Amino acid sequence: MSKQTVFKTTLWASATAAFMLTSGTSCFASSSNTEELLSNLNPVNSATFGKRKGVKIKMRVQGSSVDLPYEEEFFPRGDVSEGPSDSQLIYADSKRAASSVNGDFSFYSFQQGSMRAADSVSVYGNLRATSDLFQNDLRDVIRLYPSNSKVRDAARNYLVSTSSMPLFYFTKGNEMENAYYTRFEAEDGTPYRLMNLGWYRPTSRTKEYTAQQPDIVWHEAGHSLVDAARPDLFSDDSKAGAYHEAWGDTNAMFTLLTYESARKKLIFDVRGDLHQRNFLRSMAEEFGQSVLGSNTGLRDLDDDVKDDGFEGEVHDKSRVLAGAVYDIVVKAYEDQTRVNGVLPAKALGEVADYLRTRWVYTLTQVDSTPSFTEIGTLLKGALPEHEVGEGYGLPWMSYVEEEFTKRNISLDGTPDPWDWSVFKGRNWFAHTESAKKKILLFKTS
Ligand SMILES: [Zn+2]
Repeated sequence: MSKQTVFKTTLWASATAAFMLTSGTSCFASSSNTEELLSNLNPVNSATFGKRKGVKIKMRVQGSSVDLPYEEEFFPRGDVSEGPSDSQLIYADSKRAASSVNGDFSFYSFQQGSMRAADSVSVYGNLRATSDLFQNDLRDVIRLYPSNSKVRDAARNYLVSTSSMPLFYFTKGNEMENAYYTRFEAEDGTPYRLMNLGWYRPTSRTKEYTAQQPDIVWHEAGHSLVDAARPDLFSDDSKAGAYHEAWGDTNAMFTLLTYESARKKLIFDVRGDLHQRNFLRSMAEEFGQSVLGSNTGLRDLDDDVKDDGFEGEVHDKSRVLAGAVYDIVVKAYEDQTRVNGVLPAKALGEVADYLRTRWVYTLTQVDSTPSFTEIGTLLKGALPEHEVGEGYGLPWMSYVEEEFTKRNISLDGTPDPWDWSVFKGRNWFAHTESAKKKILLFKTS
């Protein structure tokens, strides 16, 4: 039984009300109080636990080429409505998915007639999961660095951005071999943050949806999280653009690694050797296969591309940085398994969690035009080296040093060994017109 409902204007009205309540005079705008920031990031509200409380979601965590079960996840929120939408994420396509009487969305089937509604629910789950993870990491970073004002600024930015500009997401967006995140001002001056997940035709008879590929959803979500916390990185500077792209890919990797089913399957597939071909290192396998004819996805995080002055654009350049992060995870995982004797799937989860929090810390600290040297130096400085009780006693600083040096990035203050000015930055405004049209369509539907 399908519970889809035709989109009405009620959601727009409530979204407008939310803007009026929060824009300009956000309650976080002047807050530098650590306790207040902590209480607003992933607020723990026990009233959302229990019978008919919170919301159940069923979602993909990989595309169709990877044999993983759907994840069922409970989110303790009291504000999830048809779409699904909540105060930070607004479903903006033309058919909203309705909940069960208990307020859940986990009953939609990926096999039967409600596939498109199931897609919307899945994308909502992907976005909610990665946003909650990010907020949780911000909380941890605040606790690790309680007197660091840049940390508090980033947390405050995140709260202000996500409350005054909820993310409008389109799961059956435009026909395009692409998906994008952008931020723009509508004709009436209202600022928007928007994610458009496109679809394409691999053959004249088939369609593929980027909404069905969590790597892509989490990559775009990575842009939205970075932009919320660090709006100053939303620029056409080539360093900021490459960092943004690397963040998208690492966000997809780190979010996937929080699922035990994914970790176990990954280790099973490659007999523990994460340098073999696998679904973690391959970004967007289905897109890569259909659009590029590639067996290793749209991008391969383990292709060890070095910075030797190669030419390209921000997505190419980002591979250097994302590749270093991938290899640091693998080194730590191997040592956690071999040296500390932790079971592989558990080890992988532990080291990925540990590094991800420091990766988020690095985001709060970088300059608005961050060189790879600066990023690596900050990451190294945030990590311990063989310290008892810290980071499982692993040599984290050495991992960073080795992986950046291997890619010709020196962490002794020497500038990046290539000319950033020959790289074109990320053109965020390429999508403004298309985004404006989507919002107009949403408002008038
Ligand atoms: Zn991107």
